[in-house]
Amino acid sequence: MSQPQFTRVALIGIGLIGSSLAHVMRARRLAGEIVVSTRSEHTLARAQELGLGDRYHLDAAEAVTGADLVILCVPVGASEQVAKWIAPALAPGAIVTDVGSTKGSVVAQMAPHLPDGVHFIPGHPIAGTEESGPDAGFAELFEDRWCILTPVPDTDAEALARLTAFWEACGSTVETMDPDHHDLVLAIVSHLPHIIAYNIVGTADDLEAVTKSEVIKYSASGFRDFTRLAASDPTMWRDVCLHNKDAILEMLARFSEDLAALQRAIRWGDGEALFDLFTRTRGIRRSIVEAGQDTDAPDFGRHAARPSAGGGQTSD
Ligand code: NAP
Repeated sequence: MSQPQFTRVALIGIGLIGSSLAHVMRARRLAGEIVVSTRSEHTLARAQELGLGDRYHLDAAEAVTGADLVILCVPVGASEQVAKWIAPALAPGAIVTDVGSTKGSVVAQMAPHLPDGVHFIPGHPIAGTEESGPDAGFAELFEDRWCILTPVPDTDAEALARLTAFWEACGSTVETMDPDHHDLVLAIVSHLPHIIAYNIVGTADDLEAVTKSEVIKYSASGFRDFTRLAASDPTMWRDVCLHNKDAILEMLARFSEDLAALQRAIRWGDGEALFDLFTRTRGIRRSIVEAGQDTDAPDFGRHAARPSAGGGQTSD
């Protein structure tokens, strides 16, 4: 049996990401002890029923006591509150990380509250589904996915290497990046697609000339794939929008300009412009499949995928 990478890992938040980490740590023996904390009695009781940890606490400060790795798995808007809560109880030399979908804001919220002697290394696994809560997790979530770490200046090289090895043991490939660059990249590859999905599903819901039953009945013609993204957790995505505001607004402005150009091409019957764009975008899809980031199975591999994952992973 291999040695656990960490003696005691505290998971603060036990939804999709926290419970997936619990499963993979257990399956691959990455932690001597897994301590679970969440704010509600209901979720904590469910985590206990599922056997996700070795100890359970409503008090996040109690949970991090003596932990050599602390992973925040809460919505990004809760980062500051949790950092303030756990700060006095953190062990010297502990690594504190998170899994939040935005990074600049998490650094700004957490860094001022963490004591000297603790290694703060923000992170973001690029793996997810539209499900949430402690029942949603599974050990393979991070397999063959990227995990981006955004170390702050003067990050201890040894701590960074330990956290990198941890994510690699979870099945991911680790890349390091500046937090602001992370936020810009994720704005286009994840945040904007979700916002567009929320918007198009909302528009369809508001239409008067087309009934709701028709939208549902004929959804396989394209709409259905948007509904999967638009079913993602409202709290998480509210926080992503509020905490990556500048990058999202910049990408939305670019998107609106390009949409206006597309609108013109349709209005003026510019078939060449339409054909060129659709050919270019088809090439991007091919590159994604070639890079192993999605399947080329018909129907996006919907029928082969894990049922509770709703037909595949989302990009966040
Ligand atoms: P989730 O399934 O909804 O679970 C959220 C967890 O955070 C629960 O334990 C919840 O506690 C707790 N929580 C919620 N609001 C809180 C607050 N205000 N203060 C303290 N705790 C709070 O969420 P998730 O999908 O695992 O996402 C967790 C983090 O991972 C987010 O930052 C998200 O951006 C990031 N992420 C998500 C995905 C994805 O696809 N879902 C992918 C990559 C990264 P209670 O249930 O006890 O209220």
